[in-house]
Amino acid sequence: MQDAVYTAWIVSQGEELLTGQTLDTNAHHLAAALTGAGLRVLGASTAGDDEAAIAKALADAARNGDVVVCTGGLGPTSDDHTAAAAAAAFGSALRLDAASLAAIEGYYAAAARPMPAPNRKQAMIPETATALPNAHGTAPGFVMQAGAATLYCLPGPPREMRPMLVEAVLPDIARRLSPRPPRRHFFRTLGAGESALQAALAGLIPELGRIELGFRAKIPEVELKLVGPPDVPDADWEIAVGRLRAALGKDCFSEDEHRGLGAVVGDLLLARKETLAIAESCTGGLVTDVCVREPGSSRWFERSWTTYSNVAKTEELGVPAELIAAHGAVSEPVVLAMAEGARARSGANWGVATSGVAGPAGGTPEKPVGTVCFAVAGPGVSRARTLRAPGRARDAIRKASAEIAIDMLRRQLLRM
Ligand code: ATP
Repeated sequence: MQDAVYTAWIVSQGEELLTGQTLDTNAHHLAAALTGAGLRVLGASTAGDDEAAIAKALADAARNGDVVVCTGGLGPTSDDHTAAAAAAAFGSALRLDAASLAAIEGYYAAAARPMPAPNRKQAMIPETATALPNAHGTAPGFVMQAGAATLYCLPGPPREMRPMLVEAVLPDIARRLSPRPPRRHFFRTLGAGESALQAALAGLIPELGRIELGFRAKIPEVELKLVGPPDVPDADWEIAVGRLRAALGKDCFSEDEHRGLGAVVGDLLLARKETLAIAESCTGGLVTDVCVREPGSSRWFERSWTTYSNVAKTEELGVPAELIAAHGAVSEPVVLAMAEGARARSGANWGVATSGVAGPAGGTPEKPVGTVCFAVAGPGVSRARTLRAPGRARDAIRKASAEIAIDMLRRQLLRM
């Protein structure tokens, strides 16, 4: 028997979301968390600072989802209407929750400040609701029956909302509904584009049966995801995962949604007890960022240079001026000399370098905007290659180049 799929609807409250002053990161975060918990998120809506509009958004949401999660509008000010709207929408009145009031008073006492009178309002929740304590702020959240749905109202600030979601809401959903999360397996790839992957894997897809294959392009990366109902037998699941793994080969750098290229390369270097130095031109620090954003990168990342001018390439990395004059700064001989210079001057085992035309100006017929040269230098290794980044957007070219540079090192390390 197939499990029931429970549904969810997200409501974001706040005038500032409608005027473009605040980006609705709560909806984004909730969508991922609720999906991961096994709910199917059917939609999301936004309401301004108007009690009737919030009440309507909540009532509509409760007709659509088994679970409704609303964020925002629980503050002490006159434009915070969520508790009153929830009470009105579901035939309840407001009551003072004594435990919440004590918690708010305690919050101010701990800060040695008198509680402002308006904060008392935050302890007012619908009569039929149960308060959810807020360990990171004053506004408690609450949970209540909303028609056939369960409604959770959480504070707007993400640093208050997120812990309440993890500590109170997700466990409560699990207790009430016992949703079974779908089976999911991620493959993060670099090397082949989305359509090439689609074509290469086309034969596998029909055979996967109830297991679906999804693609998400995050240039230059393509993330593939196998998703199946919770009751897909282990044996079928392993076959699907194994087929995809074999088809992707070295293009897949990570099977963990949250594990990026920097972490993967860092582990390869750590296993070899080796270190890395980087020389960047067009990427201006982004290759370094791919590395140092990883906790613990100091164990394998040695140093980096941004050598933008020709003089800097010569002075800092020892790239011969004649080499630059003969080939141009965006050339394989120069980028190789940068990688070798970084390696030699730092004493690191590996040097990686980039030099390219990020645009929008500076392109020539031979080296149009998007032309980027990459090099890897290491023990007995000197490799350079030139790629043409798709599109002409400067930021996209620089970001894609940074990951491609580190991926070139990853592929080299896998060959050793
Ligand atoms: P508070 O007690 O802080 O007033 P609240 O529940 O009333 O909490 P709001 O006043 O609606 O929350 O929002 C407070 C702040 O939280 C906003 O200024 C904004 O920075 C952030 N915030 C609110 N909603 C969202 C959202 N959907 N996505 C991201 N940030 C949000």
